[in-house]
Amino acid sequence: MAMVNKDVSYKLVKSLVRRANAVTTVKSNQAQRTAFNAATTNNFPQAPQPAAITETIANNDGDKIFDFEDTKALFSSVSTGKLLHSAATLNVAAMEPMVDLSLWVMNSRLMDVGLFRNVVLATIKHTAYDHFVAGADTVETGQTVRRLWESGLRGIVDYGLEHANDNESCDKATQQLIKTAESTQSLPPSSVSFVAVKITAVCPVYLLRRVSDLLRWEYKNSSCKLPWKQQTLPIFSESSPFYHTLQQPAPLTAEEERDLELAYQRLQNICDKSFEGNVPVVIDAEDTSIQPAIDYMTYWASFKYNKSPKPMVYGTVQAYLKDAGERLVLAKKAADKSGLPVGFKLVRGAYMSSESALAHSLGVESPIHNTTNDTHNCYNGCAAFMLDEVSNRSGGLILATHNLDSAKLAAQKARGYGITKDSQKLEFASLYGMSEAMTFGLRNAGFGVSKYLPFGPVDQVMPYLLRRAEENKGLLSSSNLDRQLMMKEIKRRMKAYMSKA
Ligand SMILES: Cc1cc2nc3c(=O)[nH]c(=O)nc-3n(C[C@H](O)[C@H](O)[C@H](O)COP(=O)(O)OP(=O)(O)OC[C@H]3O[C@@H](n4cnc5c(N)ncnc54)[C@H](O)[C@@H]3O)c2cc1C
Repeated sequence: MAMVNKDVSYKLVKSLVRRANAVTTVKSNQAQRTAFNAATTNNFPQAPQPAAITETIANNDGDKIFDFEDTKALFSSVSTGKLLHSAATLNVAAMEPMVDLSLWVMNSRLMDVGLFRNVVLATIKHTAYDHFVAGADTVETGQTVRRLWESGLRGIVDYGLEHANDNESCDKATQQLIKTAESTQSLPPSSVSFVAVKITAVCPVYLLRRVSDLLRWEYKNSSCKLPWKQQTLPIFSESSPFYHTLQQPAPLTAEEERDLELAYQRLQNICDKSFEGNVPVVIDAEDTSIQPAIDYMTYWASFKYNKSPKPMVYGTVQAYLKDAGERLVLAKKAADKSGLPVGFKLVRGAYMSSESALAHSLGVESPIHNTTNDTHNCYNGCAAFMLDEVSNRSGGLILATHNLDSAKLAAQKARGYGITKDSQKLEFASLYGMSEAMTFGLRNAGFGVSKYLPFGPVDQVMPYLLRRAEENKGLLSSSNLDRQLMMKEIKRRMKAYMSKA
């Protein structure tokens, strides 16, 4: 099933490029040549050229997606207290020396001293934690979901878990995920858009590596048979990285096959609990060494559960990978052929440094696009392809991004297709506490918007908080727009209050 004829894949991408070109406003021959050349050199279609389409948006007021001038309308659902807290946290986070000092303290041996540790954790709890984390447990997270729901947003609940290394830790993690899925049943219907699942929490990482190795070997060697393999969709394209598997892997042992069965069972238990409340699940993408096994399990669950026109299991595609576009097209087309509705979350990808470092150490080409711009083009191309697909055929799309240009491009395209919040085909998603202006702008423009809600006790979510601190530091960080607009709205509210007093 995963074996795909090279000619078929080539024709598929080429015809996709032609169709994508037809639906974009990019008219110049040069742009079309670029798109065609990109496709024939195994890059995903560069069809929607960001600069050209952004100009179209800017020049056409009727198509305007965001209104950042009217901060009153933008932050209408945010209390002044919350706005002050968010603006203060983001402004402190933007001060590089302050963040560097905090990161140093957090990683120092001072944290071993009980009293000092308690003071630091309490400070973090009332600042960064309250801003970026939805709560310590399902009860607090439920309160956050209700607040978001009242302001026209939904939540993707994400219990902060680390990789599990054995069956015992997988069982524990699964219990937490089942509890998380169960908690959504006491919340307003539709207020939770997805339960986030990490396959590394339900299947031991060593087994994900073994399965990924065997799937790669099977793709390259048609004589290789995998008796345990279930129905799936294409997992690779010709340009996928195969350097992780340089020699023939041993078949799965009887014990490994049993462990794989246990992993299916755990995923099934989480899905069953989530679907009791009609909440779909979204499976996160991780690094390329184990991603084939993650895709395999995602597609296995898709075949099992995606019966209605609305997919209940979503996978994740990382647009920073050179093979992302081809794999997306192959999987979607194969799913259409089988009558299977599939859902994808589209992200840029979070493992850039480790992927590049590994490829470099092996002396092979990095699987990551050579430039940021290539990643942006791939993201926008994949988004355009999927918007076209979900508007004309079955399927669902989550656009997980903080990139304003990508959000604008996709929103304009979706509007052109008549896709709105009620269509249930598209959800924009961003992390809790990030890209607030974009979030409210998309909501006000009539789109479905979710916040990704990591939760857990302070010490458990510390690695997540450190990543957010790193991402938001510096005056030019991605929180720049939020900081400016929040300050503008705070000043406006103060003026209005003073003029009434
Ligand atoms: C709701 C949500 C869910 C997510 N789930 C996942 C997940 O399951 N798996 C996962 O891996 N990530 C996930 N992420 C993280 C995501 O992949 C990005 O790291 C993050 O969102 C930043 O990308 P951006 O689209 O917001 O855009 P931007 O901030 O504009 O782009 C930054 C991204 O561009 C890419 N990039 C930067 N420099 C280069 C370069 N030189 N060459 C090539 N590419 C470059 C990197 O991917 C980087 O993260 C998720 C993010 C969100 C918001």
